[in-house]
Amino acid sequence: MRIGVLGLQGAVREHLRSLAQLGIKGRIVKKQEDLSGLSGLILPGGESTAISLLAAGSFLEELRRLAREGLPLFGTCAGMILLAHEVEGREDPVIDAIDITVARNASGRQVDSFETVLAVEGIGEDIPAVFIRAPYVTRLGEGVTSLAQHEGSVVMAQQGNVLVSSFHPELTDDLRIHRYFVGMVEEYIRSASKVGVNH
Ligand code: GLN
Repeated sequence: MRIGVLGLQGAVREHLRSLAQLGIKGRIVKKQEDLSGLSGLILPGGESTAISLLAAGSFLEELRRLAREGLPLFGTCAGMILLAHEVEGREDPVIDAIDITVARNASGRQVDSFETVLAVEGIGEDIPAVFIRAPYVTRLGEGVTSLAQHEGSVVMAQQGNVLVSSFHPELTDDLRIHRYFVGMVEEYIRSASKVGVNH
């Protein structure tokens, strides 16, 4: 299994560390060629505008194509913004892989960052979650499942192959959310091998 971590900017190492703790050697993805042969990709937190500018062009096109093809994607914080169908105050989406609208820096109006414990559907009742100028979901499309809420806002959601969280599971020692994503990747590999794709 090869899981990539988009390594243009942001909390890249922390995701690699979480994967390593699960026995998976992640691959840092800095350019388009690094995407080949992956069975899953994590888009880390950071600054979504910076990441989208660094990925602009054919790299971004390839990310969009892989998303449409069903590659498992997990976006945390800025990564969630990159994957959203709509970003409030922004003309166009970046990758547009999950039917949600997000508001940037929604959790940061009073405090820049905070840590809390969340109940995450199907994963656990006591998941530690670190929020850093986090986006909140302000619209959830019909095909999207809300997996966690905080103070009435959706902060984690999934639509098929795409998982997003407003918060940073990679900044905690709890591996349950990464393990859940690895489960999505395993499922993808199983279904891909049925149609004869090698991973
Ligand atoms: N506020 C950042 C953005 O809009 C996201 C913050 C984060 O990823 N921790 O891109």
